[in-house]
Amino acid sequence: MNRTFISDTPSMAGQTVRVNGWVNTLRKMGDKLVFIDLRDATGLVQVVAYKPDLDEATAAIVDSLKPEFVLEIEGEVKARGAKQINPDMITGTIEIGIKSITVLNTSETLPFQIDSDTRVVNEELRLKYRYLDLRSERMHRNLVLRDNVETFFRKFLHEQRFTEVETPILTKGTPEGAREFLVPSRVHPGKMYVLPQSPQQFKQLLMVGGVERYFQVARCFRDEDQRGDRQPEFTQLDMEMSFVDREDVMQLVETMMIEMVKACAPEKRIQQIPFPRLSYDEAMSKYGSDKPDLREDKDDPNLLAFGWVIDFPFFEKTEEGGWTFTHNPFSSPKPEHMEMLMEKKNIGDILTTQYDIVLNGYEAGGGSIRNHKPDALRKVFEVMGFTDEQINEQFGHMLEAFSFGAPPHGGIAPGLDRLIMILANEPNIREVIAIPKTGDARDVMMGAPSEMPKRALNDVHIQLKS
Ligand code: ASP
Repeated sequence: MNRTFISDTPSMAGQTVRVNGWVNTLRKMGDKLVFIDLRDATGLVQVVAYKPDLDEATAAIVDSLKPEFVLEIEGEVKARGAKQINPDMITGTIEIGIKSITVLNTSETLPFQIDSDTRVVNEELRLKYRYLDLRSERMHRNLVLRDNVETFFRKFLHEQRFTEVETPILTKGTPEGAREFLVPSRVHPGKMYVLPQSPQQFKQLLMVGGVERYFQVARCFRDEDQRGDRQPEFTQLDMEMSFVDREDVMQLVETMMIEMVKACAPEKRIQQIPFPRLSYDEAMSKYGSDKPDLREDKDDPNLLAFGWVIDFPFFEKTEEGGWTFTHNPFSSPKPEHMEMLMEKKNIGDILTTQYDIVLNGYEAGGGSIRNHKPDALRKVFEVMGFTDEQINEQFGHMLEAFSFGAPPHGGIAPGLDRLIMILANEPNIREVIAIPKTGDARDVMMGAPSEMPKRALNDVHIQLKS
């Protein structure tokens, strides 16, 4: 008999079905009656074992059951009487009367309870046994929400003629402000790959490659001190488009977010459409932050206050008195400020095309129109004090690529973890990542990072200091 998913059983009253899943809870009523709440990925169903109706062997199996045993059950779907209907259960109008039962696997007692909110459990313990935590209803719901949001974005972008392209994970460093993870090369002694802090350069090179509209559900890696709610690896909806200006990108993202909320989180209300726009100066003077919380009612869990922050300064002073970029060195200045960049004057007054999308006090993503002319990109690095040699060494490949008819282009990268965290009303991004790291960047389930045997280190030409 084919397996039936539990959520499909309510429409099958009168039929015999085969269901598979885990014992969520067991309720023994006297000697004769046992209720098993069986759980699969689609929900819970009540299975009834009335022992006087069962043969001895089946009754013995029922008596041996414990929570989290893995079962295969064949039984009859029966409509419940009006008084027995449970409106809180998706299968609350029916129950399944056991005909036969097989224990596919037993289970030890779990280290923590999963039939209630696991957020009260010690987090180290939860993360060590993350696979058990994921059995809990809330965690499962968060994973499904994440999948829904990602599926929605993929469909939306495909309809807008975007192509999803995978970019390398083993790559070369890029100056986007974060420290990078290094991966030593075995075949090239003394050389290293780095893990990408974002696919920034690749997506721009794809524009030179004529892709025109690119996106990727992209993993990004940043080896930063773990301040607050950060993860060393996180996911962005990385996008880039050719022949667009700032307005085009902002419009597309705004529509995409509005439609996504309607489709994936219909209980939420977006406070203001079109999303309000603030200049960086306004945001700082009014809210003291470049990611202002624009919500009118911060206690309303269903309120989403999106907004845009624009007109950031391109450069800021370094401690040593030079200049560095504020957001992204590949950005173009605002068109009316291009001349100042080309003449390298009034550096502090140059504004970038950078646009940040903010949501409920978080930065939900950022992007910009890029410098697609090699001369202009070169000027950015000159302002930051790079010598010609350094520029050619580090960015020669970009400058050369842009010399072969690079189209004007721009993009953005909304962060998926934080967005889904807000949609799920969760307090941190670890609740919406299947297998996150701890606050100090450890994977306690797998035991990473870990020491390596000497031979493995020798292979990659590494000698430890101590
Ligand atoms: N690469 C940028 C980031 O990771 C996003 C962008 O400018 O598209 O923040």
